[in-house]
Amino acid sequence: MNVILLGPPGAGKGTQAKRLEKRHKLVQLSTGDMLRAAVASGSELGQKAKALMDAGHLVPDDLMIAMISDRIDQPDCAGGFILDGFPRTTAQAEALDSMLAEKGLKLHSVIEMKVNDDILVGRITGRFTCAKCGAGYHDSFQKPKEPGVCDNCGGTEFKRRADDNEATVRTRLEAYHAQTAPILPYYSDKGVLKAVDGMAGIDEVTDQIEDVLGAA
Ligand code: AMP
Repeated sequence: MNVILLGPPGAGKGTQAKRLEKRHKLVQLSTGDMLRAAVASGSELGQKAKALMDAGHLVPDDLMIAMISDRIDQPDCAGGFILDGFPRTTAQAEALDSMLAEKGLKLHSVIEMKVNDDILVGRITGRFTCAKCGAGYHDSFQKPKEPGVCDNCGGTEFKRRADDNEATVRTRLEAYHAQTAPILPYYSDKGVLKAVDGMAGIDEVTDQIEDVLGAA
């Protein structure tokens, strides 16, 4: 089963993708995570992407399309994957369609996570993750049970993304509305788009996604 999670930054795509990974034995393909790894490794792609990411702008389509195509070819994706953060432009959506056709793969569902803009800045600027296991937390909505200790692995180091500051978040939201939201009609015209209420609690959103996956 190959699934796309679509939605603005902070909609909860990463959180839900991690749950789908466990429940359905799928692989989360987060293009943001891949780019952050490329930046950390100092690769050519990372060097090209860093300034754009820091400013909240999108990385060029050709780089993203090549990156995701290579990743889908890895053996661990054979059992199905969740795209989180890709496609982000109509050109990427079209390239994904031809890429999947060439690879003999199909999309099961495209799930839109609907969230109002006004809550996204607060969601994003408060979030942090465990440096050891990647578990996600939030200063107000999801604190570790014991302050400073990861509920999941007991790790005591946490990190925040460089682009999760208010100015960059606003640019990322503009990029979403200008470049990514136009993909929604592209998928609804094909009849594969289903929406869930991303404003609901995390478990409720997971239930809605499961309903969509079960019904498709
Ligand atoms: P994310 O972790 O999905 O919020 O992505 C972080 C940043 O990585 C974005 O603000 C973009 O600069 C870049 N990025 C991630 N995915 C894409 C994509 N599909 N196309 C272009 N840029 C991307």
